[in-house]
Amino acid sequence: MEEDKKFMQEALALANDALLKDEVPVGALIVEDGRIIASAHNLVESLQDSTCHAELLCIQKAAKYLQNWRLVGCTLYSTLEPCIMCASAIMQARISRVVWGAPDKRLGGFGSFINVVENHPMHTIKIGDRVLQEESAQLLRSFFQLRRENNKQRVVDRGRCICAND
Ligand SMILES: [Zn+2]
Repeated sequence: MEEDKKFMQEALALANDALLKDEVPVGALIVEDGRIIASAHNLVESLQDSTCHAELLCIQKAAKYLQNWRLVGCTLYSTLEPCIMCASAIMQARISRVVWGAPDKRLGGFGSFINVVENHPMHTIKIGDRVLQEESAQLLRSFFQLRRENNKQRVVDRGRCICAND
């Protein structure tokens, strides 16, 4: 769907902002009636809080904006498949539809690791998956590659320090 791609582009821009702040580049937003009512990127590193995923921050912002924790009729877009924690929060918030970009085999809650809504007796959430998957995955790959290089550099720098002290 063209509209899904348009909103995913917006989420990707947020993910890119995260990358610039040394955060794992994941962006998310919540749309109601074709309008963005909340947006966020990961803030785990900045806030030193493992629960500050983009999707959770969006759910909090949208509830505050609507003065209602029930986000029925809303669509959540995330550049990465929501993890099990966020998938559960999405169910709790009664979000109607989720659209995600890159799959997360390690922690994905909508099919890549486990599927929290499959065969669920009460919750039905419409899922759109792998929208602009390559763009989202590429951002994540660059982040982790950069981090590996920086870590290597740190080891080299530490080595130099030790040598200098000799
Ligand atoms: Zn999450």
